[in-house]
Amino acid sequence: TKWVYTFGDGKAEGAAGMKNLLGGKGANLAEMSNLGLPVPPGFTITTGVCTYYYANGNAYPPELAAEVDAALAHVGTLAGRRFGDDANPLLVSVRSGARASMPGMMDTVLNLGLNDVTVAAVATAAGDERFAYDSYRRFIQMYSDVVMGIDHHHFEEILQNYKDDNGYSLDTDLIADDWKTVIGKYKAMVETEAGKPFPQDAHEQLWGAIGAVFGSWMNARAITYRRLHDIPESWGTAVNIQAMVFGNMGETSATGVAFTRNPSTGDKRLYGEFLVNAQGEDVVAGIRTPQDLTEVARIEAGSERPSLEAVMPEAFREFVAICDTLEAHYRDMQDVEFTIERGKLWMLQTRSGKRTTKAALKVAVDMCGEGLITRDEAILRIEPGGLDQLLHPTIDPAAERVLVAKGLPASPGAASGEVVFNSEDAVAAKQAGRRVILVRIETSPEDIHGMHAAEGILTTRGGMTSHAAVVARGMGKPCVSGAGSIRVDYAAETLTSGGITLKKGDIVTIDGASGQVLKGRVPMLQPELSGDFAKLMEWADASRRMAVRTNAETPADARVAVRFGAEGIGLSRTEHMFFDEGRIVAVREMILADDEKGRRQALAKLLPMQRADFVELFEIMHGLPVTIRLLDPPLHEFLPKTEEEIAEVAKGLGVHPQKLRERADELHEFNPMLGFRGCRLAINYPEIAEMQARAIFEAAVEAGRKTGRPVVPEVMVPLVAMRQEFDLVKARIDAMAAAVAKEKGTTIDYSVGTMIELPRACLMAGQIAETAEFFSFGTNDLTQTTYGLSRDDAAQFLGPYLQRGILEQDPFVSLDQAGVGELVRIAVERGRAVRPKIKLGICGEHGGDPASIRFCESVGLDYVSCSPFRVPIARLAAAQASI
Ligand code: ADP
Ligand code: MG
Ligand code: MG
Repeated sequence: TKWVYTFGDGKAEGAAGMKNLLGGKGANLAEMSNLGLPVPPGFTITTGVCTYYYANGNAYPPELAAEVDAALAHVGTLAGRRFGDDANPLLVSVRSGARASMPGMMDTVLNLGLNDVTVAAVATAAGDERFAYDSYRRFIQMYSDVVMGIDHHHFEEILQNYKDDNGYSLDTDLIADDWKTVIGKYKAMVETEAGKPFPQDAHEQLWGAIGAVFGSWMNARAITYRRLHDIPESWGTAVNIQAMVFGNMGETSATGVAFTRNPSTGDKRLYGEFLVNAQGEDVVAGIRTPQDLTEVARIEAGSERPSLEAVMPEAFREFVAICDTLEAHYRDMQDVEFTIERGKLWMLQTRSGKRTTKAALKVAVDMCGEGLITRDEAILRIEPGGLDQLLHPTIDPAAERVLVAKGLPASPGAASGEVVFNSEDAVAAKQAGRRVILVRIETSPEDIHGMHAAEGILTTRGGMTSHAAVVARGMGKPCVSGAGSIRVDYAAETLTSGGITLKKGDIVTIDGASGQVLKGRVPMLQPELSGDFAKLMEWADASRRMAVRTNAETPADARVAVRFGAEGIGLSRTEHMFFDEGRIVAVREMILADDEKGRRQALAKLLPMQRADFVELFEIMHGLPVTIRLLDPPLHEFLPKTEEEIAEVAKGLGVHPQKLRERADELHEFNPMLGFRGCRLAINYPEIAEMQARAIFEAAVEAGRKTGRPVVPEVMVPLVAMRQEFDLVKARIDAMAAAVAKEKGTTIDYSVGTMIELPRACLMAGQIAETAEFFSFGTNDLTQTTYGLSRDDAAQFLGPYLQRGILEQDPFVSLDQAGVGELVRIAVERGRAVRPKIKLGICGEHGGDPASIRFCESVGLDYVSCSPFRVPIARLAAAQASI
């Protein structure tokens, strides 16, 4: 095995494609050398050595020392110096570099090779004593800190005391003799702290630093970072050793960092900062205020401090040309680090620059226009989940924030409004034209109308999959959940946290992207859906195979979804229409009636409302497909709970409240999720399904006449486990379609299918497909029933499961492809075997999750359906899945 790869002088043993072996930094240093760019010579010790080191009780491969010596000699020849030489010493930097950039690893050590003797030689060679001793003191501090574990504050204290005693304020005030004195104090302190003197031998220094890099792969920070970012331990880190160049050799030297384009806007303009007479991390450390690279940026910022363009025009021009070369070569925006030594430019790092979603879109679209990348590449460059950032208002980053509390970032976007503590107040305020934030300890299905009326939702209990979080995401409303430090007093109508009390009517702002709860109205930025976003989405639409539909039942949601590009409705949950004000009473009458006649009377009141809902929905969808699911939830969810509600319903029904309480008790279920719900309702109370079918078909006829674009309704039967169940309900639907067609004197085009959400349905998909015309995978329930766990109760153990790695992902967020996915595959296969043209889709949370969407593409579903605000994400993810 080869353990060491050299680079420099226009060539390299490595290349950009060798990141696994050389780490990101090493591979790109090699690539830049191969491109003939000015890179100080150096070499990379491979990640293989790291792996070997940990597999062999912290020992190095026996050949390593010789390979390092040979590489050092080679670098010395290129640099015209010798490592460890007293008269003409080669100084190096030691830099860690994993495959993926990884904070938590060892910090870089600069100026290694300096000691009490070589510092004098460097001073003479450079003709600059101050520079040499400034470099030495930096080296002692860095090395002692990262290799010997002596905290910086010891050094900072010594330096500060020295400055105070001598009346200095800036580091640049110190002259060579000052640094000599400070260095003496540093060394004495190191000896006391470490119990041994600061190492003077260059080779001992070098191996100390190499050991520290490999050791840092297993430090606590690095381990945590790897766990959070799914980086395997087996990858290991590489070590880069590189000849030093000096940005601290006086006024013609400088060091800086730059992005080849603006990383927050994507504008095609060089963006960066530098410092004259400085080294390494000085620019980002904030010790001095850095200067802008370009004149344009300087003028825009109104800065008095001259730009690089002005002070070192030649080096600047070369730098601009190199940035162009790098972009053209890597075909992506680069983040680079450079140093200028006495007017000569050196490149020290390049990598793909991190950017905001907005910038990512602009860069991808622009680069496609510049001919650097293809459309497909542009599509693949955008992380679909990141689009979320663009679709909601966000808090102006420049705004001041007064933090009240912090909860979970449950649903993105930001909103401001008056605090209200119950849904009735939310609805009343909305009707009066005011904006509110609904604050609850937790929410339940009865809060739906309040959540609809509110601009955003804040809860003090519950996680990312709590009712509030799921519903808010579905509605595309900002939500902060589980803000545990907030105490809500419903009676007094106040919330208190961190010494701040807000009462009903006070203004609060929630940031669903960060989980922050802020006092007052905070300025926001509105989403921009045209321009680069629109163009990239157009490209994505052209290259995807699957259709993207939305889960929507309210006109507002349907409109948003159409605006976001939905191509139909994949799931319209009729029960959500039942919770609306003015309906819930009739629904309760229907449920509590104790015979069919009573139920039919109540249903007759619901029919016109339900029909009107569908007419509106069909008009908005304008001929696009709409899947409507028959009533699904257990009936008790609609029951009156408070005495007031019971009295109201009793009056409407003309019965005694006591009778209602008894009926409610009868409907109580031990396990409603697996209880009297779904098609089981339609089979036992066919009149409910009949009313819904009539509403659907009458609405289809009416909307078709109004718009001239008839909707073809897809009627969906929920929770089917057996073909007989489906057939019984389908017979009622078909009969109703025939009846309505006859009454209206027209034909009605429609289809009847089922939601596949029980394991048995997946297994029996062949039989079910004999009569069902479509399948829609209800993966929320299918996940619950496959795992045998209830989503509403899962928070307590799913969290620990995820932390301990028993589960890699929350199966309600990203589809469990191995288990639940296997059932989907079986159902697809068996369904298609019987009915080759059967229409297949997915609804439920997973329909908006990019990884799950990739799975849907792989099993060949016809469409995915997701909540309105995830439609653009799904369009992009579906395109990426089919490229
Ligand atoms: P990080 O991974 O934290 O960016 P680097 O290894 O890139 O750490 O080093 C940080 C900085 O140290 C570089 O940006 C550069 O300014 C400086 N540096 C590293 N190696 C050298 C070198 N050989 N000559 C001059 N400066 C260097
Ligand atoms: Mg760097
Ligand atoms: Mg379901």
